[in-house]
Amino acid sequence: MYDLIVVGGGPAGLTATIYGLRKRLNVLMVSKDLGGKTQWRLALPWIDDYQVIRGLEVVNKFKSELEYLDFARHMEAAEKIEKDGDNFVVHTHGGGELKTRAVIIATGAKQKTLKLPGEKEYMMKGLCYSALSYAPLFIDRQVVVIGDGDLALRATAELATIAQKVTLISQTDKILASPLGKKVKASKNVTTLFGYEVVEFKGDEFARTVVTKDPGGATVEVPSEGIFIEKALIPNSQMVQGLVELDNEGRISVDCGSRTNVPGIFAAGDVTAGFAEQVLIAVGEGAKAALSAYEYLLPKL
Ligand SMILES: Cc1cc2nc3c(=O)[nH]c(=O)nc-3n(C[C@H](O)[C@H](O)[C@H](O)COP(=O)(O)OP(=O)(O)OC[C@H]3O[C@@H](n4cnc5c(N)ncnc54)[C@H](O)[C@@H]3O)c2cc1C
Repeated sequence: MYDLIVVGGGPAGLTATIYGLRKRLNVLMVSKDLGGKTQWRLALPWIDDYQVIRGLEVVNKFKSELEYLDFARHMEAAEKIEKDGDNFVVHTHGGGELKTRAVIIATGAKQKTLKLPGEKEYMMKGLCYSALSYAPLFIDRQVVVIGDGDLALRATAELATIAQKVTLISQTDKILASPLGKKVKASKNVTTLFGYEVVEFKGDEFARTVVTKDPGGATVEVPSEGIFIEKALIPNSQMVQGLVELDNEGRISVDCGSRTNVPGIFAAGDVTAGFAEQVLIAVGEGAKAALSAYEYLLPKL
């Protein structure tokens, strides 16, 4: 029986595991990989290397510590978590059943891709999925934002404050109904292409063009120095569906102490309904979830 199982090995899960070990808990991290999404980094032709701390640098120490502590990691997907009296069972992909007194879910969220020609080739080479992370690199540049919801609108609004030209490609003009939409509509450097279908991404070493079909079916090529695909994230929360409270988008609801509605289950990072998908936020939430789990476990230790 473990004191604590942490599911997920991204910034949130790595930090939670190291904090748990530091508190001398009997901890096991169950994960498909070590590092999660921290290996992503956008490459751009006009920037050799930008002076910010890389996500991987932030978590590398924790990662190498866990590579060394093989008793504290189990490299396999978790499929389901069930309650077993006051304890929990983590079911793994290979049929394993791991018993624990407390669990931290830190499984992150999946990016929605368009699965179009050129997308895989140019992913993170001028084409990315997070204006929240990368908009500030596009001062005076021409960029394209693709998406139909709040994320695309938010990305367009942020980019419009610094880019030379922003083209928003969306299936619907309803996206502009909100107060932020009205601000975007009034921005002189924003062009909107409603009802256009994106069919391909073209370029050389970097993405340079978004190929679209206009509502009449004619091909229109939009030149771009940066392409932002801004679609809602899909939280990896299936393993606790029906067990803990999720919001409308499937993200795990947590309180300010990273506690779910089920005593003994905690959650941290992109899988939760908290604000802003960022490495440093995930690291902080992982630490908080581990300390909360420790407070929960203390009377039982
Ligand atoms: C393209 C891209 C670029 C980004 N750039 C930046 C940036 O420049 N700066 C920044 O701060 N943030 C950036 N982010 C966001 C940042 O990467 C995330 O916010 C952060 O990694 C979230 O950490 P996490 O631990 O919650 O989840 P993740 O990093 O997604 O880690 C989730 C972990 O859970 C594991 N896992 C998932 N399902 C299971 C399962 N069923 N069983 C076991 N393990 C499982 C995964 O293998 C992984 O180890 C970027 C994100 C993307 C997609």
